[in-house]
Amino acid sequence: MRALINLDANSISDAVQAAAQVRAEGRIAAFSGGGTDLLQQIKDGTDPADVIVNLRTVNEAREIEEGAGGISIGGLATLTRVMENAAVRARLPALAQAAESVGTPQIRNVATVAGNMTQRPWCWYYRNGFNCFKAGGEECFSVNGENGQHAIFGGGPSFIVHPSDIAPVLVAFEAIFQLAGPDGEREVPAAEFFVLPRVDPVNENVLDESELLARIVVPSPPENTVSSYYKVMDRAAWTHAEIGVATVIRRDGNAVTDARVVLSGVAPIPWRLRAVEEFLAGKPITAEVAREAGEISIEGAQPLAKNRHKLPMTSAAVERSVFGLAAG
Ligand SMILES: Cc1cc2nc3c(=O)[nH]c(=O)nc-3n(C[C@H](O)[C@H](O)[C@H](O)COP(=O)(O)OP(=O)(O)OC[C@H]3O[C@@H](n4cnc5c(N)ncnc54)[C@H](O)[C@@H]3O)c2cc1C
Ligand code: SF4
Repeated sequence: MRALINLDANSISDAVQAAAQVRAEGRIAAFSGGGTDLLQQIKDGTDPADVIVNLRTVNEAREIEEGAGGISIGGLATLTRVMENAAVRARLPALAQAAESVGTPQIRNVATVAGNMTQRPWCWYYRNGFNCFKAGGEECFSVNGENGQHAIFGGGPSFIVHPSDIAPVLVAFEAIFQLAGPDGEREVPAAEFFVLPRVDPVNENVLDESELLARIVVPSPPENTVSSYYKVMDRAAWTHAEIGVATVIRRDGNAVTDARVVLSGVAPIPWRLRAVEEFLAGKPITAEVAREAGEISIEGAQPLAKNRHKLPMTSAAVERSVFGLAAG
């Protein structure tokens, strides 16, 4: 078995400095939030880290606070804390629903918000050690192989789907991600945090080496905002979304004044449905409008040989999600 070094960080700044020092010495460091994804990958040999920078010993960035600017969520808050937080449940119900839909209670009790955003792809080939784009290789085995759970939007050269349930909700609420690195902090809108494989075939986000996701700020939604997260799975529980729909709608009576609809499980990044959003603006939420929104949601989709079932599933999920937010 490979020898691993564990470094217990005392603070966010300690963690990023430790990671930078490890890298300066020519070794590979990885941050461990809850470790639910990272430690399995290290055991399987798909993550090459030889030094773990342990964030469980960091006491900051765990709180969830409501202030004038919105709700601030520490990157090290667990998913259980997110789903149980009173402000999140009252102001951002879609986020509470998405957190509650993740995996199992055991996973939610240790998995962190930041780790959920940065979990690696769950593509069967990558997880089983195939030397594909995500492992630094130069081919994708799924494109002509097993691709039943892969992307119908935004694919190529890798066809992964982004696995996080809470990421599309944070994009829909236009959250701001605060990143901490050895040279200081920077802020990135949630929608710009995730990158398509055609931009970067190896990494799923804009984090630099030694940089970590420290905090997420969700601006207070305007009055009359309603939201939901609707998840379809290929079994009853404990798994990632086949399709997840994060819908955030601002209403005047039953008429939509503004909408954000973002999908998980269908693209390598949380996939925003701008055509659906534009269609909904100004319309009352009726069964017919919701049905049309569902139809529009799959315009431009490019299914692979084995994932055409995602087209009707996406349409139906968007339809139900939109209609579920009708007034009354
Ligand atoms: C059986 C099972 C079912 C699951 N079902 C779901 C599901 O339904 N929905 C869903 O969304 N997810 C699901 N997951 C994934 C699970 O949510 C993730 O494993 C978890 O969110 C990762 O969080 P963590 O804190 O344990 O991350 P870790 O395992 O600690 O880290 C994951 C990755 O993120 C990096 N990382 C960790 N913290 C930071 C940070 N602060 N900044 C930058 N990088 C960081 C690590 O280096 C690593 O690459 C499932 C996992 C399992 C094992
Ligand atoms: S979809 Fe991505 S992770 Fe899966 S085999 Fe292709 S390149 Fe690798």
